[in-house]
Amino acid sequence: MNFFDKLREYGKTISDIENSVYGNKKDYLEIYERNLELEKEIAERTNELNIANKRMLTLQHIWEMMNSARPLESVLETIVNSLQGELGYLHSTILRVQEDEKGKFMSVIAEADNSVIKRVNNIIHIPMQMRRLKYLEDSAYAKALNERRIIQVKDISEALRNIIPDLNEENFTKVMSGMRSKAIIMIPLYSRNKAFGLFCVFSSREELADSELDFLTIFAQQIEMAITIAALFQEVRDQAITDGLTGLYNRRYFEEYIAKEVTRSIRQNQPFSVIGIDLDFLKKINDEHGHAYGDLAIKTVAEVLKSNARSIDIPARMGGEEFNILLPGIDSAGAMTAAERIRKAIEVRELDVIGNITASIGVATFLEHSDSLDELLELTDQAMYQSKRNGRNQVTIAKPIAETSWQEVAVNTFLDILTKHNVPIENTLLDDLKDKLVSIKEQSEMPKEVLYSVADMLTKTYNPLHEQGAVKSKVLLASSLAKRFDLPKDEIDKLRIAILLYDIGNLMLPKEILQKATPLTDEERSFIKEHPLIAARDILKPISYVQDIIPIVEHHHENWDGSGYPMNLAKDEIPITSQIILIVDAYFALTEHRPYRAKLSPLEALIEIKKETGKKWSEALVQEFVTLIEHDIK
Ligand code: GH3
Ligand code: MG
Repeated sequence: MNFFDKLREYGKTISDIENSVYGNKKDYLEIYERNLELEKEIAERTNELNIANKRMLTLQHIWEMMNSARPLESVLETIVNSLQGELGYLHSTILRVQEDEKGKFMSVIAEADNSVIKRVNNIIHIPMQMRRLKYLEDSAYAKALNERRIIQVKDISEALRNIIPDLNEENFTKVMSGMRSKAIIMIPLYSRNKAFGLFCVFSSREELADSELDFLTIFAQQIEMAITIAALFQEVRDQAITDGLTGLYNRRYFEEYIAKEVTRSIRQNQPFSVIGIDLDFLKKINDEHGHAYGDLAIKTVAEVLKSNARSIDIPARMGGEEFNILLPGIDSAGAMTAAERIRKAIEVRELDVIGNITASIGVATFLEHSDSLDELLELTDQAMYQSKRNGRNQVTIAKPIAETSWQEVAVNTFLDILTKHNVPIENTLLDDLKDKLVSIKEQSEMPKEVLYSVADMLTKTYNPLHEQGAVKSKVLLASSLAKRFDLPKDEIDKLRIAILLYDIGNLMLPKEILQKATPLTDEERSFIKEHPLIAARDILKPISYVQDIIPIVEHHHENWDGSGYPMNLAKDEIPITSQIILIVDAYFALTEHRPYRAKLSPLEALIEIKKETGKKWSEALVQEFVTLIEHDIK
């Protein structure tokens, strides 16, 4: 082979190699591309599987939760929370459509807890959860619900405006400027074929895939299931006659039964008794050992009641730690024996961890103590509280209502307030007041003077200018005025108690404001205006035997022409007893010294009072009042 042949051959080999390299390269490229595709497909499949898996887990989670007996709101809250983040949803909420006399509206029954809603709530001040949302018949919400189909809304601002039209422009712009959602998916919710509301999902994507639609539909079905189950639970609970924790009869059953017992008792002229039992120091047990032990204490009392009851007795849990037993045909002597037996049986029980527990007990008998059911239950309660006050773990029999004087009610009320509330007064004074009140109770003739002086001292703590003896004068003046209006004795008694209590809410007011010598700011004035009434109501509400005093106190700043507060009542809507307090209080304020003016003489005060006739008080009230004072002056 010559050189050229060699060269040619060489060249051929090179091109062969080249060819083969090229061919292989082509193969490699193909393989490489096929691999890429495969990988992509695997990634997609995995992603789909992941999503399906997450959806499955979400649904499973909901399913498990629905089998627990949690309240509907809490179940729905968890459901909406399970839907965000990983599944690509920014926020979700469940709206309930309701109707009242003002028409249809929506309220948020559950919403996911996330930064979206926090941000919005911060801007709009009143949180979505607390708003009454508009339900407009031509809105997307109504359309989704009425047509029972899923609607995707891309105009989020329109959707928001529809439900809170009164939102101002500035806040509205703020809300929208931080909004990352591209669409709201509205899914109608129905329960037992009745429209319930809407499930709204805020999505970061504009498009809505078919598989997503299927998933949200199934998700909504789970919500519907939870709603239906909760409603069924409620129905069953409404039909139940026993209490879940203790197996005793519940309040509803007790109330139905005792109403029938009243009829029977009157017809056969045979008494029945009620024993009221309240566990002592349950709060302490809960605090020290936990709720489970508190429950154990409650269950123990229930067992004692069950094992001590005759077959015709009705032992019931009235709520919390309060029990009643109805004893048909039993008079007060028999009921006292039964109550004492129960008290002992509770006291001797040894409980795990907690040790011994005790209960305070009150007893009242129908036809003996009262022949009105409401009064009977109130007397039972009063007797039970008497047991508490006397040191707990004891039985007290009710006093017939007529024997309980208004002074006694007042003393008990003051004692209850001073022992049950965290009254911000100095300890030595507090103890002194309590001692005085207890000493009044121990005497058979109620010494009114001591009661008045306690009321004076208490008033002085929030009004240093209050004059000793003023309470008594107010009570006397108010009751004289009430007699001129022919009010019955029990109304006058209520008025007397109300006179002692009407400003009690001031006890809870900040001292800086009360004793301020310079004029008050508007804010301070409105605070001082509303707050004592709120406080008085809060203070008096837990005291069962003064419930009918509360309205008198609550309306003692209503004016005859409707310009007063808190309810703007006018004319005869205002209880006459409240009107009497208003005028008596004004008169005493005018005749007392104030930092910003000298005290007026009685005649000067009357002139001021007459000026407000028809505004603050009625013509008739002023007339009687003036006659009364002028008579006194002479
Ligand atoms: P007193 O001797 O004056 O009755 O004191 P008390 O702590 O028993 O009464 P108070 O009325 O101050 O508190 C009652 C507490 O009972 C408050 C509440 O948390 C608790 N309670 C109510 N129902 C239940 C319940 O079902 N289980 C438990 N563990 N605690 C309950
Ligand atoms: Mg208790």
